[in-house]
Amino acid sequence: MISDELEQRMRTIKHKHFANDTIYSYLDDGDLQKIEDEVAVAFQGVLKALAINTREDHNTKDTARRVAKMYVHEIFKGRYYPPPEVTAFPNAKQYDQLYMTGPISVDSTCAHHFQPISGQCYIGIFPGKKVIGLSKFNRLVDWIVSRPQIQEEMTEQIADTIEKETEAKGVAVIVKAEHFCMTARGVKEHESDMMTSVLRGDFLKIDHLKSEFFSLLGNMKGMK
Ligand SMILES: [Zn+2]
Repeated sequence: MISDELEQRMRTIKHKHFANDTIYSYLDDGDLQKIEDEVAVAFQGVLKALAINTREDHNTKDTARRVAKMYVHEIFKGRYYPPPEVTAFPNAKQYDQLYMTGPISVDSTCAHHFQPISGQCYIGIFPGKKVIGLSKFNRLVDWIVSRPQIQEEMTEQIADTIEKETEAKGVAVIVKAEHFCMTARGVKEHESDMMTSVLRGDFLKIDHLKSEFFSLLGNMKGMK
């Protein structure tokens, strides 16, 4: 089975391959199809265990395959696909003020319950020598959140990646999200959002930069 092969491969290189790690660079040609096939068989087992007659039920006949495709190529694609290409440009005009982007949609999955995490991300940049296209922030965020996640680690991973790609002097990341494991089950609290924030570089060193970030944040779409 491909999962056993991958387990062996990861063990050899000591890659922890947790739910929110990406493993795309360790996959060979054809592995993605093998993963999809194995997930389809395994999910068929889940449906069978739930005592669903998938042989005759028109609604669930192809569900296992649909779920497998969705996991591998869509909602967990950040594990199996490479990151988006990011072209950096020189900060030619030497812009040295804070800029912000957001809300960026966050459609993720809770690693504890495999339930949706749905929300927004806001990014503040205090630029260095490089700038990247605005849409690249959205693509990078989508790549990171498309894994089974917990919000705290997701926010750190977004900050790590943005820091690496922009080489900014300061990076600030806020994620505000609804967790369906809280709202659709368990306590069924529909009003709760979770907010996480990670500040890096100059946002930690320069007080006025941090306060400017939070005052601008309060005026952004979705923050009122
Ligand atoms: Zn959960």
